[in-house]
Amino acid sequence: MSESNSPHIPKDGEDSIFDKIVKREIPSTVVYEDDLVMAFRDIAPKAPVHILLIPKNRDGLTRMSVAEEKHKAIFGHMLWASSEIARREGLAEGWRLVINDGPNGGQVVYHLHMHILGGEKLGDFNK
Ligand code: AMP
Repeated sequence: MSESNSPHIPKDGEDSIFDKIVKREIPSTVVYEDDLVMAFRDIAPKAPVHILLIPKNRDGLTRMSVAEEKHKAIFGHMLWASSEIARREGLAEGWRLVINDGPNGGQVVYHLHMHILGGEKLGDFNK
């Protein structure tokens, strides 16, 4: 991420940072990839294991709150992929899946993504 936490919102037709990662225009450490999704290590990890899971084709999914019926299949695939990635990462003691939505949710990159967090006992975020 750049120095600032200002939101990265791609304009229509423009690539997001994560589109550029999919196209290998920005380097990343890829841990999982198939036809539909890609997962890579977060550049500023908040836990020993911090992986971002994205749909390769954004298809309008800038954020969770704009999801449409047509996106149901990709969400199902992403949930399955998160579980597969957690197994591959050896997170047998548990892990957390997070989606930040919008300014109040702390979203910075407007290309839908899931955070896979683990590798230690995570703090209680809901207290
Ligand atoms: P969010 O706040 O949910 O939008 O999270 C965006 C995440 O993307 C943050 O955890 C950033 O550290 C991460 N990030 C931004 N740019 C990159 C990048 N080039 N490679 C890997 N992770 C990135």
